[in-house]
Amino acid sequence: MPASPAVKTSPDLIARLLDLSHQLGREDRKLAILGEGNASARVSADTFIVKASGSNLATLASAGVTECRLAPLISSLDAKGLADTDVDERLVAAQVDATAKKPSVEAMFHAWLLTLPGVNFVGHTHPVAVNSILCTKHARTFATRRLCPDEIVCCGAEFVLVPYVDPGLKLAQAIRRAVVAYVKRIGRAPRVILLENHGLIALGGTPEAVMAATLMAVKAAEIYAGGVALGAPRFLSAAVAARIAGRPDELYREKMLGLR
Ligand SMILES: [Zn+2]
Repeated sequence: MPASPAVKTSPDLIARLLDLSHQLGREDRKLAILGEGNASARVSADTFIVKASGSNLATLASAGVTECRLAPLISSLDAKGLADTDVDERLVAAQVDATAKKPSVEAMFHAWLLTLPGVNFVGHTHPVAVNSILCTKHARTFATRRLCPDEIVCCGAEFVLVPYVDPGLKLAQAIRRAVVAYVKRIGRAPRVILLENHGLIALGGTPEAVMAATLMAVKAAEIYAGGVALGAPRFLSAAVAARIAGRPDELYREKMLGLR
């Protein structure tokens, strides 16, 4: 696939990001419609590519991808009291090519997440099944308890849960706070971050890992909702969840599935 002149990165990386975006935007999967959601990929230690504002995941083309510098967006996370117009200016200033389309305001959290160890791709969606839980009092239980081993293999022993805040800078700051606390407590980077009343972010070394975490989180949400509808769901114990998360054969399986 030819690269847009606006994007200076390798056509292969753009093709992988476009394919991930098309997978995430597939209408039958009910993960994102219209301009919902976004996806990104790390190009180097300095830059990343991300869906531009207003583009559609399902039909994303290379002209709808923008390359941005990581550092100015990440340093914005330490800023206090920025107005929406200041945030907008910083987003435009971070673009490698000023004539390219403006990145989504959610590029702020993509930038920071792409600096976590082992994270090369990020996919953010608003799945119906997951949001059905994130818009209820069940969000915390769904984030911290596990019902099936494969949920642990693809999504980790727990999800990060971020309380609802305004999308944009405040959300990026809240995500950073919640992920830092998660890493301190669990001792490894998360696979999936849940945003209350908003959606899901999947992180991975490959597009396949992002897809696996997204689809498995959706499946887990459907199982959780089914369990609640039938009665009290029977959760795996914390000890069992921790054991599966660290088992050598499961680590091997994660590797074979392209999740590591
Ligand atoms: Zn969103």
